[in-house]
Amino acid sequence: MHQTTESKITVQKVKNSRIAQVDFKNLTFGNIFSDHMFECDYINGSWQNPTIKPYGPLTISPGAKVFHYAQAVFEGMKAYKDDNGNVFLFRPELNHERINKSSVRMAMPEFPKDIFFEALETLLQLDQEWIKPGMGNSLYIRPFSIATQVGVSASPSDQYKFMILLSPAQAYYTGDVKVVIAQKYSRSANGGVGFAKAAGNYGAQFFPTNLAKAEGFQQVIWTDANEHKYLEEAGTMNVFFRINDTLLTAPTGDRILDGITRKSVIDLAKRSHIKVEERPVLVSEVVDAAKNGTLKEIFGAGTAAVISPVSAFSYANVTYNIPSNNHEYALKLKKELMDIQHNVAEDTFGWRHQVV
Ligand SMILES: *Cc1c(COP(=O)(O)O)cnc(C)c1O
Repeated sequence: MHQTTESKITVQKVKNSRIAQVDFKNLTFGNIFSDHMFECDYINGSWQNPTIKPYGPLTISPGAKVFHYAQAVFEGMKAYKDDNGNVFLFRPELNHERINKSSVRMAMPEFPKDIFFEALETLLQLDQEWIKPGMGNSLYIRPFSIATQVGVSASPSDQYKFMILLSPAQAYYTGDVKVVIAQKYSRSANGGVGFAKAAGNYGAQFFPTNLAKAEGFQQVIWTDANEHKYLEEAGTMNVFFRINDTLLTAPTGDRILDGITRKSVIDLAKRSHIKVEERPVLVSEVVDAAKNGTLKEIFGAGTAAVISPVSAFSYANVTYNIPSNNHEYALKLKKELMDIQHNVAEDTFGWRHQVV
C-alpha cells in the first residue's frame, strides 16, 4: 500500500551553484552530480520528510543493513532539453513501476508515485541549467532506495532512505564493443533477482566482466544459468540479434530485466515493419548465423548508452566478427529513439513527459 504524504517537499536551495566549475564538453559518465538531491525516509511504516537539499555526503551508521546485506534497489532514467528550453522525461512512469517491483522483491517498501513525480519535477526545475540541449546531451537521473536500520541481524530493515541524484551526461561513444558469451558465470537465475534493479546484481557482474576485459573484450553476454544455451542480456543492457532481417531478443521474465529501451526499440522496429521475435534465443543459432553469414547485427539497449552496436563476439574461444559492419538497424533505431527523446521527432507513442 502506498502511504501518501500530505506535506509538500521541503526545499533547501544551495547558496552558490557549482555549475560554473563543470566542463560540460568533457564529462565522464556518472561522476559529477548537480547542485541538489532528493531525500525521503521511511520510518514507522511511512515515507516521511521528503526534502530537496544541496548535494552532499550522508551520515549513516556503519551498522546499517544496506552495507551488510545489499538491501538496495535503483533506477536509471534521463531528462532531455530541446532547443527551446523545454525539459522532458522519457516514459518515467515505467521507472516508477519498476523501482516498486524491484523493492517488493527485495522486501523493501514501495515508494509513492505522487512524491516520486513531485520530487523529479521540483529537482529538474531547480537544476534545469544542468541539462544541456543538443543531441546526446542529457541529465542522468539516479533514484535509489537503501536499508538504513542499524543492526547486522539478517532480516529486512524497518527503515529506508529513498534518494534521487542528477548527473549531467553526454552522448558517449562506446567504441567497438566486443563481447564474450558466458559459459561459466551467470547474472541471474530462475526465482532470483535478475528482473529487479537490485544493487547486488551489478556487484556480481564485475568479476566475470573483468575476466572478459583481460581477454580484450568489453562485455559479457549472459546466458541462462541452467545450461548456458540461451542468450539473455549484454552487460547491463538488454540485447538484440539481427538474423537476416529479423530482430531476436529474449522474452522478459525472472531472469531478464524489463528494459524501457528494449520495450521502445521493439515498438519502433515494429513501426518500421521490421520483424521482431521475443523468444528464447539459442547460442547455437547465433553461432550458426555468424558462420553462414546471416547474422547481420548484435546490439545492446539501455538508458545510459541508448544502443551499443557489437562488432564481434567470442564463444568457446572462437571469435566471430559480425560480417556486415554498418549497424543498420542499430543506428536507425537509435536515431528514431533519440529524436523522440530530444523532441526532434513527433511523439506518436506518447512517450515524452514534459517537466519544464
Ligand atoms: C537497467 C538495466 C537494463 C536497461 O533498462 P533500461 O530501462 O532500458 O535502461 C537492462 N539490463 C539490466 C540488467 C539493467 O539493470
